Amino acid sequence: MSKGISIFWFRRDLRLEDNAALYQALKSEWPVLPLFIFDRNILDKLSDRADARVEFIHNALAEIKKELKEQGSDLLVKYGTPEDVWPEVLAQFEVKAVYTNHDYEPYARRRDEKVSLLLEKQQIPLRTFKDHVIFEEEEITKKAGGVYTVFTPYSKTWKAKLDEKEGTIEENGQQVKLSYYLKPYPTEKYFSNLHQTSEAFSFPTLAEMNFETTDIEIPSKTVSRGLIKNYDDTRDFPAVDGTSRLGIHFRFGTISIREKARRARQLNETFLNELIWRDFYAQILANFPHVAENSFRPEYDFIEWRNNEEEFAAWCKGKTGYPIVDAGMRELNATGFMHNRVRMITASLLTKHLLIDWRWGEAYFAEKLLDFDLASNNGGWQWSASTGCDAQPYFRVFNPELQSKKFDPEGVFLRKWLPELKSCSSKEIHKPIDVDGYPKQIVEHQDQKALAIELFKKSH
Ligand code: FAD
Repeated sequence: MSKGISIFWFRRDLRLEDNAALYQALKSEWPVLPLFIFDRNILDKLSDRADARVEFIHNALAEIKKELKEQGSDLLVKYGTPEDVWPEVLAQFEVKAVYTNHDYEPYARRRDEKVSLLLEKQQIPLRTFKDHVIFEEEEITKKAGGVYTVFTPYSKTWKAKLDEKEGTIEENGQQVKLSYYLKPYPTEKYFSNLHQTSEAFSFPTLAEMNFETTDIEIPSKTVSRGLIKNYDDTRDFPAVDGTSRLGIHFRFGTISIREKARRARQLNETFLNELIWRDFYAQILANFPHVAENSFRPEYDFIEWRNNEEEFAAWCKGKTGYPIVDAGMRELNATGFMHNRVRMITASLLTKHLLIDWRWGEAYFAEKLLDFDLASNNGGWQWSASTGCDAQPYFRVFNPELQSKKFDPEGVFLRKWLPELKSCSSKEIHKPIDVDGYPKQIVEHQDQKALAIELFKKSH
């Protein structure tokens, strides 16, 4: 047995800098050994062995391991279920405490509960911290009590709370005003308290875990000042590189939300609002965990969805005959990314035109999106399907053709993903008629809109 150590358990916070629980661990009395578990409870359920997200995690860990080795330490990486791995780790090391950051998803909560009980049996404390969001589920509440289920008042209180505790820090030799809640955790100051080892810990390869590498391109974790400043003008147009594409980095914590929120606060309130949406949906999932399986509004659990499997398959493949939807689905299938505006249009077509249960679409996005995040994906789907908390009213049904004309007027995005439509004019491309190799519209907009409104009314 080695001498006493504490363990820092990485999950969705894959970075050494500005990491709340890692910071707390490093400041405590025991040398810190960082651990990551490739969790078979999650991995075994993934349908595609070439999953770019698993590869992304693997690469992020390789970077962390390299950095830790430069500090004379190492990263312990295990492959198995947390239930099996933790007893192994406790047998291998004299663990005095375990540090980790909060994870708000229902599975993660159950997992942490089990691990906490296991540790408790050996009198080992599990110390957990907020890192993934700026404000957690109980931090933003109404004056009269209770949590918010509508975004605008939530965001006002969110911003007011940020302003409540304001101080200054030194940045690049200047004193900068900073909210207490956005302060970075200077982990690097305490790296000397990392567990020192000459032992080389093994690191399972993707192949050993039965996964493959992919050729999917991962967006950068840095974003130009210009993009954030121009975000209001560019963010709605899928043909323009006008959004940050930081989603995957927020999802796995390869960037710090505090750092990005600090920049957003200085540069652009609209961009900050998007980060607040992320907190909003995280708190909805944490406070109303039933949304992971059911509609936020119980009255919409009884909608009689049509759920035609052939129509679902056409939607998944990008063969609905609605170019803006098809382009989006094909981009998703090829790259793991879909623009927010197009996510809303594709989700609306699935639920309101094809009358397919939002959970089918949610599950498909969960499989394909690089930035898949249960809280935001569920929130986005329930918003689009009108079953959610602060959702699009059910009688407001997007017209895909008008959306396409408005947000991709020249058809640049459409031509990129739909080679069949390359020679269509900018006028025809939004509703192509009899184009060789391109399907006819799977359903008609006006008819389906009426049907959808009827269906929702009936479920009340
Ligand atoms: P940017 O526009 O650059 O925004 C910056 C960041 O703000 C995003 O990375 C994200 O973390 C956050 N953000 C932006 N918009 C939202 C929003 N509406 N809700 C919550 N957070 C937001 N977002 C996910 O992170 N994971 C998902 O699985 C997901 N699924 C969605 C499904 C549907 C049906 C819809 C309508 C939206 C979904 N979103 C999801 C929200 C949004 O579409 C993506 O966050 C955004 O498109 C990611 O691209 P970006 O990183 O370039 O975003």
